[in-house]
Amino acid sequence: MANEMGLKVQPTLDALVIGVGPAGLIIAAELCDRGLNVANLAPTKTTAPWPNTYGIWVDELESLNLPTELLEHHWRNCISYFGPSATQHQRDYGLFDKAKFQNYLLQRCATATWHQGKAQSIEHSDNHSVVKTDGGTELTARIVIDASGHFPALSQRPKKSNVAYQAAYGVVGKFSKPPVESGQFVLMDFRAEHLTDAERKQPPTFSYEMDLGNGIHFVEETSLAYAPAIEFDVLKRRMEKRLAARGIEILEEQHIEHCLFPMNLALPDRSQSLVAFGGASSMVHPASGYMVGAMLRRGPELGAAIAKALQNSEASPQAIARQGWDALWNRDRLRKHYLYLFGLNALMGFEEERLNNHFSTFFSLPKSDWSGFLADTLTTQELVGAMVGMFGKAPNDVRWGLMRSVGGHGDLLWQAVAA
Ligand SMILES: Cc1cc2nc3c(=O)[nH]c(=O)nc-3n(C[C@H](O)[C@H](O)[C@H](O)COP(=O)(O)OP(=O)(O)OC[C@H]3O[C@@H](n4cnc5c(N)ncnc54)[C@H](O)[C@@H]3O)c2cc1C
Repeated sequence: MANEMGLKVQPTLDALVIGVGPAGLIIAAELCDRGLNVANLAPTKTTAPWPNTYGIWVDELESLNLPTELLEHHWRNCISYFGPSATQHQRDYGLFDKAKFQNYLLQRCATATWHQGKAQSIEHSDNHSVVKTDGGTELTARIVIDASGHFPALSQRPKKSNVAYQAAYGVVGKFSKPPVESGQFVLMDFRAEHLTDAERKQPPTFSYEMDLGNGIHFVEETSLAYAPAIEFDVLKRRMEKRLAARGIEILEEQHIEHCLFPMNLALPDRSQSLVAFGGASSMVHPASGYMVGAMLRRGPELGAAIAKALQNSEASPQAIARQGWDALWNRDRLRKHYLYLFGLNALMGFEEERLNNHFSTFFSLPKSDWSGFLADTLTTQELVGAMVGMFGKAPNDVRWGLMRSVGGHGDLLWQAVAA
């Protein structure tokens, strides 16, 4: 089938998903599960290994009824350091087996068709959208879901200055002695006695560490969020200093992880005639950087809304997209998003001691509060309750820091109220 310009045109699909990262496969699986005619477009093969390692709290996976066999590693001994002694999280953490997770989603996408290429442009008409690829192919679908990552190919969002990035430099390998106890996972080690006074005045960073078994460990120096991003060289130097202070040498580097992604990009333009999902939809948790659990939780809501909107054969891409946006970014979600952004801005202003006091207090809240905050499973009312509870329990330096943040970033609280 060809149009008047001789370009290849595909028959109309229900939905075209852009991207084969976690977001692309999760939403494609949801749409296939609902019996829709789905195609996917990405520059890589569907089975190309995902470049990142993905961690998740084990109870998040269980609450989604997903098997823990999707995890390659599962730790019961999970701690952090916000001072000299360890905070016990009393909660299991896991790392996905990326290949298994990808295969699980691909199996659910058995009815989808796959196209290799890059989405370059999109045009909408009354009853369909046409995506043109870099190879000149045109793919026609009733709705397009852009899941092409944090800087999407098609989806639009307002420009934002001062974007904060999570940045990390990590090594998977062999060390002269174990950086953590056998079978242990360290979410955040903020101890910084190995740094000079001048370094300790710079934005704080923490170490994310885990025992991967068979004498292999992963150690990653991480900046939770900072604008501009902390440079990899700085993170590498800090990691080496941290290890050296503990008398640990890196003997063999099996994999180096460079992690860099935006934490507070603006929300997408929700009047667009397409929907965005995952990084493309600014779904990364602004106060933690986690997103995979959120995509697994919110994918079904978006899938159901699109499937329902498609039942009206006259519905335009704009009308279908509106249903999708309303499901993905309803008022409650918007309110919570601005509250999280407020939290992020407060944290970015905290120096070492205040940050440690903040996290000690945060993880001393009832587990349902801190885990619900991190997973974004609290209602707005519960989230406000948890934040007020945190304020009540926090030492004065943290309270002052939060109040100062109201002065600097009170607009976000106002946006949360007005959403
Ligand atoms: C190193 C690292 C570690 C992370 N760890 C975690 C973690 O432990 N837990 C967690 O929850 N989150 C984590 N994140 C955050 C987040 O979950 C990831 O960034 C995640 O990969 C985002 O998923 P995505 O599918 O939206 O985008 P991506 O994974 O970036 O996938 C984008 C897809 O779109 C395709 N694409 C790009 N441009 C085009 C185009 N023009 N046309 C067609 N296709 C296109 C790409 O090829 C790719 O298939 C991490 C991020 C990084 C960078």
